[in-house]
Amino acid sequence: QADLAMYRAKDEGRNQLHFFDPAMQASVDQRLRLQAELHHALQDQQMLLYYQPQVDAQGRVTGAEALLRWQHPTRGLVAPGAFIALAEETGQILELGQWVLQQGLCQQARWRADPQLAPLKLSLNVSARQFRQPGFVDTLRLQLTDSGADPAHIALELTESLLLQELDSVIALMQSLRALGLTLSLDDFGTGYASLNYLKQLPLQQIKIDQGFVRNLLDDPKDAAIATAIVTLADALGLQVIAEGVETAAHHRILLERGCRHFQGYWFGRPMPLADFEAMVRAQHAPTA
Ligand code: C2E
Ligand code: MG
Ligand code: MG
Ligand code: MG
Repeated sequence: QADLAMYRAKDEGRNQLHFFDPAMQASVDQRLRLQAELHHALQDQQMLLYYQPQVDAQGRVTGAEALLRWQHPTRGLVAPGAFIALAEETGQILELGQWVLQQGLCQQARWRADPQLAPLKLSLNVSARQFRQPGFVDTLRLQLTDSGADPAHIALELTESLLLQELDSVIALMQSLRALGLTLSLDDFGTGYASLNYLKQLPLQQIKIDQGFVRNLLDDPKDAAIATAIVTLADALGLQVIAEGVETAAHHRILLERGCRHFQGYWFGRPMPLADFEAMVRAQHAPTA
């Protein structure tokens, strides 16, 4: 791998001298190793989904967001922060994203057969690159049919980076996804490119307040004002709003006061293995003494 980095440096000429800097060398090596390992991760079944509860105003679990985890043979459980960006760059996100959709749809189909789990809604993250891949909608249509999942219980979380491409084509794609019966959610709202004009035009059903605005809710009046404005705006536009990163009872209380009715965050549950999530949901159905 070191050889490959040297080769690239030579290839790219004198402007790439930083490739020979020992500190940079390590990170280039790391990237190449990570890329190679990612390549094998899917075949070797090292990827898995964790489930983080999403709750309503009463704190009852209404669904989950599926979050990718990599059970790495030597490094342990790796969070997506360590590999999603690289996978986006290399295009490996397409294969990963397909796998996530396939897994998620099959999981919802299994829940569908169980009265306690059938009401759950499952949210799946879709990267912008995956969304604009030709054939994305057609593939998803087939996957829905094959898996037996109920599209009414599947939400796709899209990010604002999607809006870097031509708006008309984004809207058309979103409309085809809506026609499949899926819910469309805008993730990390307020951090990217979405202007209020986009919010009006996109066929969305849900927006997620980015955890950055929730984190400082108590000490930063500006963040509190933004979170409140997002809730008000979403209500006025007929969109469901869900707050991410709700870590404390105080976060929850303030957001409730500001009119938010859907929540996700460590206060209600961390991302967890499937069995733990299902146990949590079943416990809610257990008769209370
Ligand atoms: P996201 O979609 O915004 O997911 C929410 C992230 O916030 C998750 O991080 C979750 O563990 C974390 N989180 C939830 N509640 C709290 C809280 O109360 N406090 C704090 N500090 N964090 C909280 P995670 O699992 O590390 O995922 C990070 C990002 O990686 C996701 O952000 C998403 O952008 C991406 N990602 C995860 N799974 C997938 C996937 O299957 N496909 C794609 N394309 N991206 C994914
Ligand atoms: Mg998300
Ligand atoms: Mg988010
Ligand atoms: Mg995020």
